[in-house]
Amino acid sequence: MLKIHYLTCSKPLLCLTFAAKYTYMSNRTFTMIKPDATSKGHTGAILDQILKAGFSIKAMKWIQLTEKQAGLFYDIHRERPFFQELVDFMSSGPIVAAVLEKENAVADFRTLIGATNPAQAEEGTIRKRFAASIGENAVHGSDSDENALIEADFFFSKLERY
Ligand code: ATP
Ligand code: MG
Repeated sequence: MLKIHYLTCSKPLLCLTFAAKYTYMSNRTFTMIKPDATSKGHTGAILDQILKAGFSIKAMKWIQLTEKQAGLFYDIHRERPFFQELVDFMSSGPIVAAVLEKENAVADFRTLIGATNPAQAEEGTIRKRFAASIGENAVHGSDSDENALIEADFFFSKLERY
């Protein structure tokens, strides 16, 4: 957590911009409701759980990724053995992409969705409730503030968020 108010700052405008950027990043995360969950009709229930957990929606779209787009989004996993399976799955049907806001958004959302493998996810988490397997695991959640911003930029222009 950045404690900007303890710093002395000779360039107030620069410091304010810096503080605003970090405040924005640490309060927002990015999610996708994945094709398994949208095709099984779980979209409404998952959004309901997200809202009841205190997140607010700052951007949202219903979209089907091409294979190329899914590969770019998960580029970090390109060398992993499950990469092609992941790309095929993520481009197999529509997803809901969204930017969510809440204090401590990234960590709290990862807690809400549960472990990558639903068999190991805590009771009541989104993946425990709605996911069938480690590959088809219902939702994505950003793993850091930096990636939350990169992933939000991948899907949304500035005009599409508030
Ligand atoms: P996500 O990034 O989608 O929120 P995660 O951060 O919990 O998931 P990652 O390690 O980033 O997990 O893996 C990305 C995605 O790749 C997983 O959500 C899952 O869909 C898929 N995946 C991960 N491990 C496996 C595996 N062993 N076999 C098949 N698919 C996998
Ligand atoms: Mg991940």
